[in-house]
Amino acid sequence: MDMVKTRALIVRTANSGDNDRVLTAVSPELGKISVIAKGVKSLKNKNGAGCGVLCLSDLVLKEGRELYSLVSAECAEGFYHLRDTVDGVAYGMYFVSLLEGCTEPGVPAGDELRLCLNTLFALTRRPGDGATLKLVYELRLAEVLGLAPYISEECQCGEPATHLSIAGGETCCAAHKDPGAAALTPDEMRVLDFILTAELKDALFFNSPPALIARLGTVSEKYLEYHLGRMPKTLDYLKNILKNPT
Ligand SMILES: [Zn+2]
Repeated sequence: MDMVKTRALIVRTANSGDNDRVLTAVSPELGKISVIAKGVKSLKNKNGAGCGVLCLSDLVLKEGRELYSLVSAECAEGFYHLRDTVDGVAYGMYFVSLLEGCTEPGVPAGDELRLCLNTLFALTRRPGDGATLKLVYELRLAEVLGLAPYISEECQCGEPATHLSIAGGETCCAAHKDPGAAALTPDEMRVLDFILTAELKDALFFNSPPALIARLGTVSEKYLEYHLGRMPKTLDYLKNILKNPT
C-alpha cells in the first residue's frame, strides 16, 4: 500500500457508522479527496482534533480503491477564532464549501486552496468584514478558475461602460447590454477592477462603504452562480444568519 502525505483543508465531514467519519478535504497536490477516518469519533482517538471542518491538517493517508484511509491527522491551523461568532462560522463554512464545489479529485488545487486559506486568515483578523471578504473571495475565485469578468471603462463600441454582462463576462454600454446585465456606477466598476487586479493581500484588506460592498456582493454572487452553475447550500445558511442575528 502506498502512503501519501499532504497538508489539506477539511471542507466537509459525514458520519459513517458509530465511530467513523468520511472527510472531504482539498489538497494542493491531490485536489479534492475523500478520506475514511476510522474510529475518529471515539474520544480516545488521537486524530480527532485534525479531522474537523475548517482544519488545515497534515494528513498521512493510505491509498484505497475508492477512498483514502486515514493513518494520522494533525491540525496545523484550526481557524479557532472563526468559531467565536455564528457569523464567523457561517462565512467560513461558505468559503470552504465553495472551494469544495470548484475542485475535483486528481486535479491539483494549490491556487484555489491558497486563496481560501488567505481569506480565512483575513476573516480571523477582521471578523466584522465578512461581507467584504466574501466579495473578494468570490471574485478572486472566478479569477483563479479563469472565469473572471473583464472590466473596462468602455464598451466595445467606445461608449462608456455602464453595465456588467453576467453571461458575457465583460462591461458594456446600455445599448449593448444583455437582459441579465447588472448596472454599475463608475465607482463600483473601479472597485471591481481593483479587487480583480490588486495583489491579493491588498484586495483582502481594502475598505469601502458597506452599501457599495453589499451592492457588489449581489453582483459577484450572481456572476459566480451563473458561471459555476450552482451555489452551495451554505450560502443560504449564511444569508439566514445575517438576516436573523442572534
Ligand atoms: Zn456599446
